[in-house]
Amino acid sequence: MMDRERCCACGRPLTADEVAVTKKLVNRGAREFLCVPCLAARFEVTEACITERIAHFKAMGCMLFQKD
Ligand SMILES: [Zn+2]
Repeated sequence: MMDRERCCACGRPLTADEVAVTKKLVNRGAREFLCVPCLAARFEVTEACITERIAHFKAMGCMLFQKD
């Protein structure tokens, strides 16, 4: 179990999906996580692009996205 992570850019509490997609897009060992809007800014893509990636990883059955 982990404490609620916060976005390292804007401080917003993160969802489990945001933590997981940061690990997939940035680094599996990431210690700093970003919310969807800040991930979109970091990668210079739309927020929809990030949420599509989340849906994609879930569809693939990625273990990082499995809920406990
Ligand atoms: Zn943020």
